Amino acid sequence: MTLEDRLSDIYSSVLLRNPGEVEFHQAVEEVFDSLAVVVQREPEYLDAGVIQRLCEPERQIIFRVPWVDDSGEIQVNRGFRVEFSSVLGPYKGGLRFHPSVYLGIVKFLGFEQVFKNALTGMPIGGGKGGSDFDPKGRSDGEVMRFCQSFITELYRHLGEYTDVPAGDIGVGAREIGYLFGQYKRITNRFESGVLTGKGLGWGGAQVRKEATGYGTVIFAEEMLRTRGRSFDGLDVVVSGSGNVAIYAVEKVQQLGGRVLAVSDSSGYVYDPEGIDYELLQQVKEVERARICEYAERRDSAELRTSGSIWDVPCQVALPCATQNEISADEADTLIRNGCVVVAEGANMPSTPEALKAFQSSDVLFAPGKAANAGGVATSALEMQQNASRDSWSFEHTEERLTTIMVDIHERCATTADEYGQPDNYVLGANVSSFLQVADAMIAQGVV
Ligand code: NDP
Repeated sequence: MTLEDRLSDIYSSVLLRNPGEVEFHQAVEEVFDSLAVVVQREPEYLDAGVIQRLCEPERQIIFRVPWVDDSGEIQVNRGFRVEFSSVLGPYKGGLRFHPSVYLGIVKFLGFEQVFKNALTGMPIGGGKGGSDFDPKGRSDGEVMRFCQSFITELYRHLGEYTDVPAGDIGVGAREIGYLFGQYKRITNRFESGVLTGKGLGWGGAQVRKEATGYGTVIFAEEMLRTRGRSFDGLDVVVSGSGNVAIYAVEKVQQLGGRVLAVSDSSGYVYDPEGIDYELLQQVKEVERARICEYAERRDSAELRTSGSIWDVPCQVALPCATQNEISADEADTLIRNGCVVVAEGANMPSTPEALKAFQSSDVLFAPGKAANAGGVATSALEMQQNASRDSWSFEHTEERLTTIMVDIHERCATTADEYGQPDNYVLGANVSSFLQVADAMIAQGVV
């Protein structure tokens, strides 16, 4: 059997063992595409069975989350935590609360997280969790009761040396507060390091809120630098208007770029004067309102509820909303309109067809596991501060984040060069992180 056949057999068994989990299949396939060159050079990774083991989570937890809504009705949601790999450290990865969440989404995110966390160079394994609960339109009391019920089941699996969740879509500072409060109440321990993204007054880290968005832009700036360019004077489109998007917009502006459009699931706003970061933050983060509110309060902005945000011509595209939000057609439009850099703030926002389109053009493309790793890296910095009962300044923490992102960029670019595919950040990210994880697995034996 050839090496390719052996790899393709493993992929077929992933499909068979995880039926219907299309996002998980997509994430695995993308990594396998990169691994062909690794097993050609070093077939012992196949012999050691690391690839099969990496595709099977160490533990998967699915549980009932019952809670009572404001009208006294009992609601039931489903909770998930997929503890994918603890080979480099405690499981680490966010919780997503969104109606689309099911096991396939949590597994794709957990699988990606293993490689992303390795790229940060920090001692963290990979995991992800969440629920099909939709916080949109729910009162604070409802969100609190849901979070309390969720953690009352999950707490037994968590711990600063075991599994450390954080936020993701639908989970921000408010939810982390409710989850932490109930965890503390059940365990009678103020265990700061069990959750990251905490409030600044009770164990949270400076820059954690900004880290994913800032980090994505810092990574994109490094990509531009390889072409002798910078954000200064460039037009940028950022999809989404949540945690990642808001702080990506802020950082682009700090670097002299102009963000022309942002979105949410109801449409996008086009603002030729450049998105007003403070108004965006007020509308989306403080008031939790819809994006149309932004357009209503800003004369230069226009709400568009048809067409695609990717129709807006730009030199840099930062997809920061959700998975599979850029189709092949949208990728073609971006390329035609002169886009030079795409850096994924979200996880897997490009479909496989869009990814192929970018890779066969001159566009420099960075996958989420590299470009958005600043969030989890800063979570690891939060854990570090919690462990030493310390707290660092904004400036110091941002400096650390910048160094980490520049290092990840360098690591991806160097690996891509070593494997004869310069500028292929997908290959660089997958191969470099795989080698680190696989070597640790071999060193730790068959477990
Ligand atoms: P938020 O919940 O804060 O924001 C998500 C944003 O994306 C909202 O504007 C939301 O709009 C929009 N969105 C979600 N689904 C869709 C959709 N189907 N179509 C259009 N817009 C949509 O989440 P985050 O900003 O935290 O996360 C965004 C992405 O970044 C996710 O892929 C996440 O996994 C990834 N990520 C997040 C990290 C973090 O630190 N938070 C770290 C690394 C990656 P609406 O409100 O209308 O739903």
